[in-house]
Order: sequence, then structure tokens, then C-alpha cells
Amino acid sequence: MISIVGIGPNRENISVKAIETIKNAEVVIAYKGYIKPIQDLLEGKEVIKKGMGDEVRRAELAINKSLQGKKVALVSSGDPGIFGMGNVLFQLIGKHEGFLVEVVPGITAATFAASLLGAPLHDFSVISLSDILTPLSEIKRKVEHACKGDFVIVIYNPLSKTRKKPFKEAYNILVKYKKLSTPVGIVRSTDESSEVEITSLKNLIDKEINMSTTLIVGNSMTYVKEGYMITPRGYTVPSEIHPLAVDFYEKFLKGEITVGANRECEYYPCHQHPQNCTFCYCPFYPCGDGSTGGKWITGKNVWSCEDCFWIHDNKTVKCILPKLSKILKETDDLIKRKKELLKLRRECIHNTYTK
Ligand code: SF4
Repeated sequence: MISIVGIGPNRENISVKAIETIKNAEVVIAYKGYIKPIQDLLEGKEVIKKGMGDEVRRAELAINKSLQGKKVALVSSGDPGIFGMGNVLFQLIGKHEGFLVEVVPGITAATFAASLLGAPLHDFSVISLSDILTPLSEIKRKVEHACKGDFVIVIYNPLSKTRKKPFKEAYNILVKYKKLSTPVGIVRSTDESSEVEITSLKNLIDKEINMSTTLIVGNSMTYVKEGYMITPRGYTVPSEIHPLAVDFYEKFLKGEITVGANRECEYYPCHQHPQNCTFCYCPFYPCGDGSTGGKWITGKNVWSCEDCFWIHDNKTVKCILPKLSKILKETDDLIKRKKELLKLRRECIHNTYTK
């Protein structure tokens, strides 16, 4: 029996099952850098340490030891199935019959980094920029399609001392499709500690990045609040409709509102720069997500739209207006059909925020 054991990012985050599996093994095989966090579990065991790049050799050794009847733990950092030892072992296992393999999952760098940054992951892709086994053309294609799909992109192995081209090429693709203001989380980890930084796509190029850095590049809805990086899922916040909004949408349904800038309004421009006033009362209020600039007024249970200029942008209005009429048949729909409205909001953010 071979157990491929993911030991996560560090000893603090190793699973109980991983610890038990290593304790129960007779032979432990690992890259030498992975031994330190599990050193206390190795007493009385045969321990085989190998160097970086020896993955095939480690998998073969695990198979040979297992054929000798030993219980083997083949150790992988992070999760064995995500750029870990799972892949290479399953590639070789077909040479033999009747092998029993157990995969013990671990916390991969993507979710570990996300936990330190807040809640940045929602429909995300994980891409390694290492071109040791993968052609650069394939890496570039994947980055490009992840951008086109507006995925949050987690980048492993971004940059080494000798391998700089994949990062440069990937960066050029990211800035082609994403706004320069897109938040990027940087997590630099060692066995002992992790350092977290949130920057923008624009400033990422000047940051200190190496092979053990994990990058999380946001999508069109990702925002930063109070030092956390957040990509909202779009949950509906309970709300009532303000009487003035009811009046506004009664006029909207009769086609009596002003489309475009309302320069006759005594408050124009209430956001202090030229604006499209079509949605003087936002149909999504309160959206409860900060991706367009809104925020909770702390302690008051009030959602403030003061800094949301998106709803007053011509492109936004052009996207929302024709579709809103299909959802909104009566003012009560502002509450009853809120989920559909929030999906329309997401659709229009995507259409207006991505290049
Ligand atoms: S104005 Fe902006 S922040 Fe306010 S509810 Fe509408 S979309 Fe959200």
C-alpha cells in the first residue's frame, strides 16, 4: 500500500489524517525540504530523502518498497493532486498489477494563500508558470483563456532566478485583459512564516516574487476592503424598498424617467463629476458587495453608495437598461426578484470592467 500524503503548506496546517498516515508508515519517502516539518513523526522509520527534480525516482522507490510489502508514505507538499506527487505516481502505477494507492489530501497553496488574504477565490483557475514540463505556449493559452473567462487566477511558481520569461509573458496577457487596478494578493511563504501583501496588477511587476510565492489575481469583481481581498459571490442582503425608490420605479415602469444626464436636477451632479442619472435610485440597492465602491456604514446597518460611480457610467446604463425592463414588471420585483437583479448586476460588471 502506498499513501501519497499531502502535508499542506507547513506543519501548523497538516491534517490529522496526514499525521496518522505518516505515523503508521514503515517507509517515508520525501523531497529533502519536506522532512523538517514532519521530523517528529519519523522515529523508527526508514526515511528516504531525495532532491528537487527527483520526482520520478521517488515514485519508483515508493513502488519498489511497496512491492517488498512495506507500508509506504510518499510525501508531497501542499496537496498531492495539485502539482504534487499524485500525478507522477499514477503515471507509473500502470506498470504493475493490483496496487493499492491512497491519496491523503492536503491544503494547497491556493487555498492557504486565500485564507491569509480574506476571501479572494470564486470560480478560479490555478496555473503554474513553470515551463520545465509544460510548453510556454500552453501556459500562455491557459492564462489567456482564464482571463477571457474572468476567472480569479492563482499563479504557482511565478518566477525563479533563471526562469523569468513565463512571468513576463503571463503578465503581458494579464494586463491585456484585466484592468491595471485589479487587486493581486501576494503570499510569500517559508516553513516558518508567511508574508502577505495586496497590490494592483499595475504594481505587481515591481514586487519581490520567487518560486515559493503564490499570486492571486482578482477578477472583475474583486475588491480590497480593510486589508482583505474579496471576490463576492453575490448573496442577497435582506432589504426594504425606500418610498422614494418606489416612486422612482413607478415612473420608470411608465417610461417617465430621464435617461442620461439630468442637468435639470438641483443635485446634479451629485457624485461631483458628470454622470448618467438614469438610475438615480439603483435597482440593485443594497447590493451589499463592495466591487463597485459601495460600503456598509459601520454600526448603522446602512449601505452607502456614495463611492459607486459605476451605476452612473454610460456603458453600465447601456448594459442594464434593456435587460432590467424584462425583470422588473412591478416595483415589488425590486425585492421579489432580487437574485435575478443581482445576476444582471454581475453580468454588467463583467461587461463593463473587463477590457
Ligand atoms: S449604487 Fe452601486 S454600490 Fe449602491 S447598490 Fe447600486 S451597484 Fe451597489
